[in-house]
Amino acid sequence: MQTADTSIEAFIDALPKVELHVHLVGSASVPTVLELARRHPDGPVPVNEEELRAFYEFRDFPHFAEVYEAVSSLVRSPEDVATLVTGVARDLAAQNVPYVELTVTPYTHQRAGMPMPVITEALDHAVRIAREEHGIRVAYIFDIPAEFGAAAARGTLDHALDHPPLALVGFGIGGIEQVRAAHRDAFRDAFTAARKAGLRSLPHAGEMTGPETIWEALDGYGAERIGHGINCLADPRLVARLRETQLPLEVCPTSNVRTGQVADLASHPLPRMLEEGLFLTLNSDDPPMFGTTLTGEYRAAAEVFGLGRAELADLARNAAEAASLDDASRRAVIADIDALSPPARR
Ligand SMILES: [Zn+2]
Repeated sequence: MQTADTSIEAFIDALPKVELHVHLVGSASVPTVLELARRHPDGPVPVNEEELRAFYEFRDFPHFAEVYEAVSSLVRSPEDVATLVTGVARDLAAQNVPYVELTVTPYTHQRAGMPMPVITEALDHAVRIAREEHGIRVAYIFDIPAEFGAAAARGTLDHALDHPPLALVGFGIGGIEQVRAAHRDAFRDAFTAARKAGLRSLPHAGEMTGPETIWEALDGYGAERIGHGINCLADPRLVARLRETQLPLEVCPTSNVRTGQVADLASHPLPRMLEEGLFLTLNSDDPPMFGTTLTGEYRAAAEVFGLGRAELADLARNAAEAASLDDASRRAVIADIDALSPPARR
């Protein structure tokens, strides 16, 4: 008989989990949004906690888009940006996450009227608060919202090059994948310039479109990791390339179900991707809006995909390996994972 403290749930809680794929606005939990809503009571979001919880209950994708839009409209000042960062830092630290790479879409905040240096100052300030108050290290990825095309590529790149937060490590692209081909050169040029400035290329691809977007991420953007990448399985040549290079894929199972890319968790391709020998990490994307947490993704991997402790620890080690950490910090995270579940081979 298993005692409570040896349960798989307790193991997952204790496992140090690195989060590589989570969005700033999408990671806003109820307490964080409540703080913003009360700061801006004229906004479209309920200021009463019970009503807000009901508003946040995931119903379908259009409702998710509505919630996302409503929360975005509350982000009006640098203080609001900092509140979002420290909110996600608090929520992740409580799940035993020592390090997060948080995706920020600065173009959205620029459009809301905030000057780049002011946004950067807020992001830098929030990193210090996250470290001091919650003991978690926050790094940033700036991503282009693809649906805004070349203007968004330029705004994101200018911000990354001219006013980078101290903790900026990567450059990405998200939003609607279907429009990418129409702005191919603008997006390629932005990635080339960002990489030249020392940023890692960390684009979304193969989430809502097929293998061609992943090929473009690899060959056009020089991708070092891929956000999602689940649709690689349709192309054996691509699978072989990803296996040979062991390029990390940031898989977010619940997100794929909630956005309708996959019918349900039971039919999610993660187990097939593991069978193919791909390098996977587990992530939460927009956790409170999708009704999940990073811990919840590990639990789903255990319950739905049948992964055991050793396999869950391997996924956690993969995330540490794929993170933009210095070697000493990476070794420290991996040592903590090893202490809980020693690696099978090393
Ligand atoms: Zn994402």
